[in-house]
Amino acid sequence: MKIIAVGRNYAAHIKELQNEKPDEPVIFCKPDTALLRDNAPFYLPDFSKDVHHEVELVLKICKEGKNIETQFAHKYYEEIGLGIDFTARDLQNKLKAKGLPWEISKAFNGSAPVSNFVPLANFQNLKNISFDLLVNNELRQHGNTKMMLFDFDTIISYVSKFFTLKKGDMIFTGTPAGVSAVHIGDRLEGFIEGEKFFDFEIK
Ligand code: MG
Repeated sequence: MKIIAVGRNYAAHIKELQNEKPDEPVIFCKPDTALLRDNAPFYLPDFSKDVHHEVELVLKICKEGKNIETQFAHKYYEEIGLGIDFTARDLQNKLKAKGLPWEISKAFNGSAPVSNFVPLANFQNLKNISFDLLVNNELRQHGNTKMMLFDFDTIISYVSKFFTLKKGDMIFTGTPAGVSAVHIGDRLEGFIEGEKFFDFEIK
């Protein structure tokens, strides 16, 4: 399986990082070695002093497809979960300044903790799903799919032009504002519509 992620999909987050609003989705990949499951702890890597949390809704692909048209995109995902797109911001900023790929700042080992998945049929309106991240019991990030620049179907369609999507692939759909550094001992709890999806510790 592969993990595909969307950057700059929430206006307030684009602003906080002083990035430009994109005309098309900004896409990057993480290898399967980035995946962390079952609330396993996240170990801070020694190559960064500024690892940020980015809470994101994650879609799971349910069948193979490429060049998927937007109107049929909904047939390719039927489950949703919640994850963190951990980002070594200091490294990323350095690479961005040089115009180099961010890969190592985004796709390193354990950089993609993901919760269990639930059927999308549980949700009445995919364009109004709220999610939250609490760090040490304090609300740090709040998002809602209605704030997305590119919705689920647009993302699936766009990504599938370049990468054939396969069953089991995961799509991180972008983070809302409020990203900040994590520290040893922090507890991260993620919620979709008030229901807890993950709960793990930084070590
Ligand atoms: Mg992200």
